Amino acid sequence: MWKPRLLLMALLAGGGVSSAQTRNYDNVQIKVTKVAGSVYMLQGAGGNIGASVGEDGIVVVDDQYAPLAEKIQAALTGITDKPVRFIINTHYHEDHVGGNEFFQKQGPIIAHDNVRKRLQQGGQAGNLGSVAFDAKPQPKAALPILTFDHDVTIHLNGEDIRALHVPNGHTDGDSVIFFPKSNVVHMGDDFVRYGFPFVDLGGGGSVKGMIAALEQIMPQLPADVKLIPGHGDISNLDDLRSYVTMLNQTWAAVEQGYRQGKTLDQLKQEKVLEPWKKWSGDFISSDAFIETIYNELTGKPGTLVKHN
Ligand SMILES: [Zn+2]
Repeated sequence: MWKPRLLLMALLAGGGVSSAQTRNYDNVQIKVTKVAGSVYMLQGAGGNIGASVGEDGIVVVDDQYAPLAEKIQAALTGITDKPVRFIINTHYHEDHVGGNEFFQKQGPIIAHDNVRKRLQQGGQAGNLGSVAFDAKPQPKAALPILTFDHDVTIHLNGEDIRALHVPNGHTDGDSVIFFPKSNVVHMGDDFVRYGFPFVDLGGGGSVKGMIAALEQIMPQLPADVKLIPGHGDISNLDDLRSYVTMLNQTWAAVEQGYRQGKTLDQLKQEKVLEPWKKWSGDFISSDAFIETIYNELTGKPGTLVKHN
């Protein structure tokens, strides 16, 4: 997701100005938190970074915005003097891949096939309504040079670090990253803590797909697993469960109105998501989430990237 203030930019309509160019990152500091085992979390601006740190080096998950790359590097150097070996992108959004060009000089970027395609092509991300962002085509040096279709495992630091593709969740190129020995999972933006999630319908995402993916993953997780959400603080399985419950309930509430023939405006006026208003945020408000579910229900066409 992008920070709330960037939503305003999006509403100012397709200026094509990337957030990295307009935002000032000078005061952003990178906070390092040990999660469990050999896994750390780095927070600055943009999506949470995961890092497996050990005898073989560092495996980085996501790399925030381009102007923060050197600060992120310095924070990693503060944990270990070992090199960055691989970087995994959980999806194609700028706040998770901005440092690609910088970090790919040290090790290959790995991502699902669709991350590379979307970074290469550019397009419009959003909920096919009031939330919209221009995703500019990225230079070759920023594109993942290793891509996969279903899953891939990196055997480093005594850990089988597995990136598993989640079809059509937050986008159509999502991966969830498992660190089984450390008992940590980086959820990408399929699980966020800023309230209702941003689901990038324009980027092949789907609320239904997000629910299905999470319902498949949850039973496989140990009760004491530590979750790195795409945005927000380290979470546990109960946090994820209540998030999925909210997704199911809000989907059902909007779907019910839709089946009764209500328009999007009526659903907003009737405040059908009022019982879940604590999830309404600056970025994705109740109205924006109603709109997301509604647009998915009506099958508004997004820009689908063909899956290999
Ligand atoms: Zn995102």
